[in-house]
Amino acid sequence: MNKPQHPGSTSNFIRQVIEADLASGKHVKIRTRFPPEPNGYLHLGHSKSILLNYGLAKEYGGLCNLRFDDTNPEKEEQEYVDSIVDSVKWLVGEQAAAPLYASDYFDFMYQCAEHLVESGNAYVDSQSAEEMKHNRGSFTQAGVDSPFRSRSTAENLDLLKRMRAGEFPDGAHVLRAKIDMASPNINLRDPALYRIKKEKHHRTGDKWCLYPMYTYAHPIEDAVEKITHSLCTLEFEDQRPFYDWLLNKLADGGLLERPLPQQIEFARLQLTHVLLSKRLLIKLVEEGHVDGWDDPRMPTLAGARRRGYTPEGFRRFAERVGVAKENSWIDYSVLEDCMREHLNEIAPRRMAVLDPLKVVVENYPTDQTEELLIPNHPQKPDMGKRPVPFSRELWIERDDYQDSPPKGYFRLFPGNKVRLRYAYVVECVSYDKAADTVRCRYLPETRSGTPGSDSVKVKGNIHWVSVKHAHQAEVRLLDRLFKTEKPEGQDDLNPGSLKKIRAQLESGLREAGTEAVQFERHGYFIADRDGFNRTVTLRDSWQKT
Ligand code: ATP
Ligand code: MG
Repeated sequence: MNKPQHPGSTSNFIRQVIEADLASGKHVKIRTRFPPEPNGYLHLGHSKSILLNYGLAKEYGGLCNLRFDDTNPEKEEQEYVDSIVDSVKWLVGEQAAAPLYASDYFDFMYQCAEHLVESGNAYVDSQSAEEMKHNRGSFTQAGVDSPFRSRSTAENLDLLKRMRAGEFPDGAHVLRAKIDMASPNINLRDPALYRIKKEKHHRTGDKWCLYPMYTYAHPIEDAVEKITHSLCTLEFEDQRPFYDWLLNKLADGGLLERPLPQQIEFARLQLTHVLLSKRLLIKLVEEGHVDGWDDPRMPTLAGARRRGYTPEGFRRFAERVGVAKENSWIDYSVLEDCMREHLNEIAPRRMAVLDPLKVVVENYPTDQTEELLIPNHPQKPDMGKRPVPFSRELWIERDDYQDSPPKGYFRLFPGNKVRLRYAYVVECVSYDKAADTVRCRYLPETRSGTPGSDSVKVKGNIHWVSVKHAHQAEVRLLDRLFKTEKPEGQDDLNPGSLKKIRAQLESGLREAGTEAVQFERHGYFIADRDGFNRTVTLRDSWQKT
């Protein structure tokens, strides 16, 4: 019995639940959701949740909702909403439907609150915040009932309505579930459902001065949208009993239909060399350590996109990492490898000199230009060829020439021959120090692709760019933003994370689009804002020693 599986994927415990629910007829079609709070840009950790939720929906012919968990009026902004929609679309393509908003369910959530009061499952507590905290008890000590816990239904309902009408200041009263102050699970000790907050909301404006708590709102949002499997990270495991308690009370009261959504927890993505906490990322932006949320060094999806990371690279990464029940650390190089692997397949090759040194080919006619046809990808002939101009003056990399070469150096030095990639073999004559120029002579019979190309054997093969055709551009050599494996903040920033240079690029790069390219011998790059960003080097230079 061989079932088709995503290669390398280990989200089997979630698949097992889904498959059992489909087999038993509990659900005909599954529905998952990705529920960000619009209080920051999405980060690399979110890619795991997005690809898991949209991936399962696709695999089982279901749907996935993008839902803004916008129940907290503070800190939420339209800029964040827009960037999140953008990043999700970028990552999952046309599978991304128009977003939904938890704030659209505020009326229904309030109706549910009145029902809980009427059915004796919630009460208005008027203790101060400190008293409430103190009376909640601890892991080792049971909580103490609030003196307001025995208020009559009529009094509770009256207070709740007046809270909603704005009669009380922030903090005067709280609506709480009536469950069990002695429960070993602290989350069941009469959790708060609503608090007074006289704040303007980014979508509902001044309509509400009473806002639902996340733990109350989230299960209702799932149920309203008929989510079948509500996937969340492990820290919500202790919330699951309340999730089920709440939805069952509301279903018993006829406010919700069964079957109810099922919460399933998985391990969050923890990546070395980055910070995946909005609170800390906001600090980096606000304190100016980076150039905004979408700085290509930022571990945000908007930053990753500008850096040249690809959705396909993220999919490979999600599959490689899999989904587990235990938290563990993933080395950042795993993500880079996935990007490298994908870019190697799709990126056309180009020549770019990042640290230019001039070469004059003495015996090449002064006014001549040849168009050489160079393959775009050495292993993929179907990617075609491009014309690249060759002329008497060329740029090469400064470290491709040495006056007195160390042992084993096969590139240019006086008397040595190398191949100029896809062009000719040249012999180094001398180095003119005053002009900072290497003088060479070329061997006309050795042109690549002609029968004579093998007539002279050389060990070095270097890239070049014709001086008079070169496109001079800014290239940003991006590296990891943090130098330490488990960074905690600005003290761990890598001072070498951004190096800007003026580079000499082959002329075709003047019209570079938004597709990734490989600069031969250097890495993968992408055009971005009047220059090029380095996405990733060809090889990992961060390997542990
Ligand atoms: P932060 O802790 O950075 O503020 P968050 O988890 O509060 O992030 P939300 O907007 O609440 O951010 O997250 C939306 C969804 O993304 C949630 O379902 C959450 O579980 C999931 N998520 C967040 N971080 C990760 C992560 N590192 N790995 C996997 N899923 C994540
Ligand atoms: Mg959160």
